[in-house]
Amino acid sequence: MAPPGALLDARTDISAPPEEAGWLTLGWWLIAAGTLGGLLMLFAQPGPPADAWAHPLSTAFRYANVSLALLIFLSGWNHQGHASSREMVLAFGFLGVGVLDFVQALSLPTMPDFVTSNTHQKALTLCIAARLLAAGVLLARVLMPERRFEREHRGGWLAITLALTLLVAATILSGHATLPPLVDSLGLRTTTGMLIETLVMLALLATLFLMILRERHRGWHGGLLLVAVAGMMVAELHWLLRDAAADLGHLLGLGFKVVACVALYRLAHLRNLRMPWMHLQQMRSELDEKQRFLDTLITEAPDGVLVVDEHGRIVSANKQLLNDFGYSEADLLGQPVEILLPAAQRQRHASERSNFAQAPYARPMGAMGAVSGACRDGSLLPVEISLGNVTIEGHRCAVAFVRNIEARRKLEEERAHLLSVLEESPDWVFQCTHELKLTYANPAAREAFAIGEQAVHLDTLFAEHAALSLPPEALFGSAMRNGVFSGESHLRCASRGRIPVSIVIVAHRDAHDVLERYSLVARDLSERVGWEQQLAHNATHDSLTGLPNRLVLTERIEQAIDQARRGRGLAALLFLDLDNFKLINDTLGHNAGDQVLVEVSDKLQHCLRQGDTLARFGGDEFVVVAPGLRDTEDATAIARKLLEALDHPVLIGETTVSVNASIGICLIPRDADSAETAMSHADQAMYRSKRAGRGHFRLYAPEHDGDTVLDVELAAELKRAVRDDNGELSLHYQPEVAIGSGNILCVEALLRWNSPRHGEVPPDRFVPLAEETGLILELGQWVMTRACQQLAAWQQAGIHTRMAINISVHELKQPDFAERLGKSVSEHGLTFDAIELEVTETALVQSLESTAENLGRLRALGMRIALDDFGTGYSSLAHLSTLPIDKLKIDREFVNGISHALNNRFIVEALIRLADQLGIEVIAEGVETHADLGVLGELGCESVQGWLFHRPMGGAACTELMQMRSPADA
Ligand code: C2E
Ligand code: CA
Ligand code: CA
Repeated sequence: MAPPGALLDARTDISAPPEEAGWLTLGWWLIAAGTLGGLLMLFAQPGPPADAWAHPLSTAFRYANVSLALLIFLSGWNHQGHASSREMVLAFGFLGVGVLDFVQALSLPTMPDFVTSNTHQKALTLCIAARLLAAGVLLARVLMPERRFEREHRGGWLAITLALTLLVAATILSGHATLPPLVDSLGLRTTTGMLIETLVMLALLATLFLMILRERHRGWHGGLLLVAVAGMMVAELHWLLRDAAADLGHLLGLGFKVVACVALYRLAHLRNLRMPWMHLQQMRSELDEKQRFLDTLITEAPDGVLVVDEHGRIVSANKQLLNDFGYSEADLLGQPVEILLPAAQRQRHASERSNFAQAPYARPMGAMGAVSGACRDGSLLPVEISLGNVTIEGHRCAVAFVRNIEARRKLEEERAHLLSVLEESPDWVFQCTHELKLTYANPAAREAFAIGEQAVHLDTLFAEHAALSLPPEALFGSAMRNGVFSGESHLRCASRGRIPVSIVIVAHRDAHDVLERYSLVARDLSERVGWEQQLAHNATHDSLTGLPNRLVLTERIEQAIDQARRGRGLAALLFLDLDNFKLINDTLGHNAGDQVLVEVSDKLQHCLRQGDTLARFGGDEFVVVAPGLRDTEDATAIARKLLEALDHPVLIGETTVSVNASIGICLIPRDADSAETAMSHADQAMYRSKRAGRGHFRLYAPEHDGDTVLDVELAAELKRAVRDDNGELSLHYQPEVAIGSGNILCVEALLRWNSPRHGEVPPDRFVPLAEETGLILELGQWVMTRACQQLAAWQQAGIHTRMAINISVHELKQPDFAERLGKSVSEHGLTFDAIELEVTETALVQSLESTAENLGRLRALGMRIALDDFGTGYSSLAHLSTLPIDKLKIDREFVNGISHALNNRFIVEALIRLADQLGIEVIAEGVETHADLGVLGELGCESVQGWLFHRPMGGAACTELMQMRSPADA
């Protein structure tokens, strides 16, 4: 659709009819041809035309001219639109010409007399008057300035024209005889006639000249006028040169005048009727176009447009309004406007509307702000209304522009929602200018950073950057280059100081890609970092004791190896395993066990230097890495210190628990060059230490390499041997004899294992293994049964002796041990006093509390308890009186070589004396020489056991031996 401006400009130039150019050419040709024709006729002197066709033709020409003159007048009279004074001069002028021509036609000599007697003179005078008027009118039309002619004056002008013309006609009619003659009696022009004719010609020439002068610069629009003037001139030429009533020239002159009048009529018609009509048409089409434009504008307007009449009825509603409210045009037109309001507001609106109608200017119309409209389906529509007054066809109407603001409302709600998310976010949200000047901070951020009214630069909120975090200018620089930066940094919080945060910085640019501002969202990571640290700690530390775990340990060992390699002293790896920790767990429960572990770890930790590492390796195993040592002595000193620290019992609740440990030491770099081998070697050394007796330490020795591997195999083999009972296990017996008589007092059952794979395995080797693996309980049961069987067999064979059975403290700790043992003894028909139980000193002293009850019960049954290997443990002599025992077996270590080791002799002597005082029997083990036996005898020892008398022997051999002796013994 064209904009209104273009519409108005598109108006065609209606003052220049298209045919003008053709008429112009015709005009020039006419002048040329007419002039040439006139001259030819002057010289050729053709004869007069035949009356038969010349008379009617000239009559027709005359009346045609009269008619055309009248038509020219009528065109002017009935002009459309604004009439121009030029056209009116033409119209009224030619009315006069027409009247004179008409009167002249009536006054021809060939006609009956008109008013006065018709003469040639009378007709000619009228004719000249008409031609003079026509030429004058044409000159006036050209001379006259273009001026508007008032239509209401046309009656007056008509009257004046008619009056003047009729006056002229009347004058000529009445006085033609008295007027100076224009032709003489011969029909030739008089001087007066010639003068007037020349005047007419001059007027026409002046007209032509003026036209050329005026029209030249306008590009000759006056084609029709030119034809008219030319026609008149040619006609005049013919009359001037060859005029006689019956002449051909006269006839041609009339013909050229017809041509001129036709052209003038066309001009008058064009100017007065056709052009105004075309103009009107154009205006109408422009109006239509404008109307359509306005209609489209309203129909297609993006806002609803509603027109309501003074009675409140809807008279028009555009498409958008119908769409918004869900109505069709038919539904809405003629309805009260309240139909578009929510029910609750209708009545009030109606009364307000009628008030308004009564005093329309009391309230200014205009924007009403946001209100709710009611749609056809009853839903409410948020709208913004602006009102205006219009008058349509004399009726005052209200026009309302109704803007649907639902989408905008939603957008606003969304915005508000988003803003509330920002405002309530626990994350810190900032916005700043490109110069980092803060423009927005959400409440969380304002509180955390104590941001008040004062100007703040965002970079000042960052903490002084540590080695790992980038300075703020680097962060913002990255955001500027890449659009976004995300990473971690540290901010300086008002109350909490430096805190780790994750940040996202977004750089915002305007339409020209110029950096406008930044937004920054920061999240407090302190909790997460705390968790991470905790997790990292958990991953590397034991949860119970808080000690480093294996992971850290391996690292530290590797560091220690590294240092040692670089010559910074030795390092020691001490593998510490709590002795009998399983028993603590089993008897006191896991909580107590945990407490023991914590206490132990504390105690151990206190023994260590800075730079040493104590780690919990698993269950009851601890590892110490001690770097920077000078020699082996330093390593053993640490081991001793650790054992000493554990020497004091631990108080768990009300129970005192004595804890002991065995330690294996691996020296770095001497014994190992990797963490793995160091651990494995320390472990092996620890096992050896255990086997040697608990509460000790051992250094790793390469010659024992492989022991541990074997241990696992052996333990499995032993287990199978016990379970299958396929003869691999057997009991040997070693008698104990009285020094004086040499009598066999008792026989000690000693376990033997002949493994098909490993051959004879000594009990020193497999008994500790059985204890570690828990197999000792089954193994002990097997020994007990076998010993009882043998003793029962001997008794049946009449051999009476006591059977000494070695038991492990593990067995003694079993709550039902006394009961089971008693049962086993009774089942074999034996008396309890025939059984002596040997328990090693170290084991018994360590677990006195847990074994006291069983010991008491066994003694109550009548069984004897012997303390084996006495002297190797830690119990002091003073301790002895408190122990529930009947017999002491002095360890081989003191007995062997007593004849020449003086300190042993003193010890044994003191022992014997003390035992004597306490009423405890004493026996010396491992007597191999007579010399030693002699000393023992001197010291008052009454019984001995050793190879000097009997080696351990099989059941049959022992039976035989005892049968030999028994008559005497019995
Ligand atoms: P033990 O109870 O001290 O047994 C005495 C050990 O000394 C026996 O070694 C025995 O053969 C050895 N022996 C005896 N007289 C002499 C001597 O004059 N010179 C030397 N050098 N050794 C002598 P064996 O049989 O190898 O037993 C070693 C240890 O194994 C025993 O020491 C005992 O603690 C343990 N054991 C043996 N059988 C059993 C058993 O059935 N149950 C338990 N729990 N332990 C057992
Ligand atoms: Ca023994
Ligand atoms: Ca012994």
